[in-house]
Amino acid sequence: MRDYLKIEFSHLFGSLLIFMPIGYLLHQLPAAAATAFIAYFSKHGYYLIRLAMLINQRERIEPPYPADIWGLIYKEISRHRTRSRKRKRTLSRFASRFRKVTSSIPDGLILLNKSACIEWANPAANQLLNISWPRDENAQFIKRINHEGLTDYLKNPDYSKPIELPSPINKALIVSIRVTPFGGKKAQRLVVARDITEVYKLNQTRRDFVSNVSHELRTPLTVISGFLENLGENEMLPFQERPFTLMQQQAERMNSIINDLLALSRLELGNAPSAEKPVSVPDLLRRIADQAQLLAEQNGGCQLTLDVNDNLWLLGEENELMSAFSNLVFNAIIHTPPGTEVTVTWLRLEKEACLTVTDTGPGIKERHIPRLTERFYRVDKARSRQSGGTGLGLAIVKHIISRHDGELRISSQLGVGSSFTCAFPEEMILTKTEKYLVSETS
Ligand code: ADP
Repeated sequence: MRDYLKIEFSHLFGSLLIFMPIGYLLHQLPAAAATAFIAYFSKHGYYLIRLAMLINQRERIEPPYPADIWGLIYKEISRHRTRSRKRKRTLSRFASRFRKVTSSIPDGLILLNKSACIEWANPAANQLLNISWPRDENAQFIKRINHEGLTDYLKNPDYSKPIELPSPINKALIVSIRVTPFGGKKAQRLVVARDITEVYKLNQTRRDFVSNVSHELRTPLTVISGFLENLGENEMLPFQERPFTLMQQQAERMNSIINDLLALSRLELGNAPSAEKPVSVPDLLRRIADQAQLLAEQNGGCQLTLDVNDNLWLLGEENELMSAFSNLVFNAIIHTPPGTEVTVTWLRLEKEACLTVTDTGPGIKERHIPRLTERFYRVDKARSRQSGGTGLGLAIVKHIISRHDGELRISSQLGVGSSFTCAFPEEMILTKTEKYLVSETS
């Protein structure tokens, strides 16, 4: 920069050097000085007008550049223009690649702004949800789909699980919709719609199959159990007694499995409990504790402790909750050795209501824990069968808890014990006083 200033001074000085001696000879020094300045500034005027024209006509500013300060200005503007042209080219290449990629994705992608209006969508969104961009730009996403469940789903900031719904364009298509918030304050949302018709149908076939088989097995089993009962009333020869007892035990076991399979099928059919009423969990737990005491006595005895918040109730289906909680308490007795301490707590922990069943049993190896809620998964198959377990208990518990918007958490340490927690969200919690208000309004 200093060099350019030096050049400018030398140009001004040169102009004065030319005109001042002439002015001196003609005795017109002020006029000579003015002419020297005019000559110097005319050069700046010329370059300024040229620059304005070049910018206006969007022409390239090609070299050679003037050797003065204008050279620096021309060079910088030219460099800046080249850089921005390159950036534009890169951006347009990126945009075209992005368009190609999003067009080839089979999942529908929709961008929603802060007000849940459509900002952009890929072509698959049109095939799955009848949302076309730019046709539907700025339209309300909820209004375009018009599905009650989706409206509630979008209002709830918990998007950890996707929602499944029939496609508005073809009811035979089942679409799974997952929402991911992004951007500043996570106010914008990306909606991903996936065609899950095949998986859905497969699941439905599996559910129907299990349910049908269970129903079909029930009738012959009832007949067998009936005959066994009749036989039991008659005198038996000593060698017949053991096979008879075994037959009775196995019939009972089969009956339990069928009952549990049918219970699971019923749970899988609906999303939320049919009858959501105030449930006195403290009373429920006391009833379970009484039954657990009897079971504990049969199993060699265990020490059962109850720590219950009497003011804490739940909104839900009593029979389902009874089945889930008793399953956990009975498991703690059945799957642990005599003398184990079992503690049942029902407390409010921050925003959740938690039922925790803790035992001081042998614990469960870490690798089994994520699989415990799978159907027929047992840590020790032989032991579980011996204790009369069907291997479906925890699968049923998990279903019931998630139908009540809760979560089943399992933790265990070998040699220390296990802990099973059912955590229910604030919306499902009732206090005793609230319970009366609910009863009066319903
Ligand atoms: P089951 O009918 O066999 O009890 P569940 O689904 O209720 O089936 O439990 C699955 C398996 O988890 C059980 O077979 C047992 O191995 C293990 N389990 C459940 N609860 C406990 C516990 N409190 N302590 C140790 N193991 C347990």
